[in-house]
Amino acid sequence: MANIDILKEQVLETSIYSYEQGLFAGTSGNLSVYDKESGLVIITPTSIRYDKMKIDDIVVIDISGNIVEGNHKPSSEWQMHCEIYKARDDVLSVFHTHSPYATAFAVNRRSIPLILIEMVPFLGGEVPVAEFALPGTKEMAIEALKVLDNKHACLLSNHGVLTIGNSIDQSHIRAEYVEDAAKIFHYALNGGEVNVLSKEIEVKMKEM
Ligand SMILES: [Zn+2]
Repeated sequence: MANIDILKEQVLETSIYSYEQGLFAGTSGNLSVYDKESGLVIITPTSIRYDKMKIDDIVVIDISGNIVEGNHKPSSEWQMHCEIYKARDDVLSVFHTHSPYATAFAVNRRSIPLILIEMVPFLGGEVPVAEFALPGTKEMAIEALKVLDNKHACLLSNHGVLTIGNSIDQSHIRAEYVEDAAKIFHYALNGGEVNVLSKEIEVKMKEM
């Protein structure tokens, strides 16, 4: 399965890089990519530190969560990943972090409003907050899908960040931009008045 091997490499490389960036800490956060051709999901394992992760630690599952390849169990959030792939055939990669600035707003249950121009192309506008759901359940995906709509990212109440994309690179850069926007929103709130970009500007930018 040559294609699967390439995707496993991508999952590993992006996981290690995300750990170095501070998007992942310890064993928290997870990412996956969906191979449409085989119907398989290549996903990070559960409970393996990112700084110790090796290629054989990456897990391949089918869309129902059965292990096809790998020595470990898939991420405990595999159901969230698979439910999103089942519901959205435009999504080929799911990325989940507990990155600190964004997760702080997930604890506040406060969406990140459209405060930066980059948020339009990279995030599809504001970053909404999904209703709370227990970790490791399908409900995480169900609640996230309700707010994602035409957005590329959302906050998971009292938990973290979820981004979607058509490739690992896309879901990863979106996770980076969520944390970047959250950090800037945090500083802007501390500095005083926050000016949110208007719906009109958002619409114009989406037409550009
Ligand atoms: Zn999590």
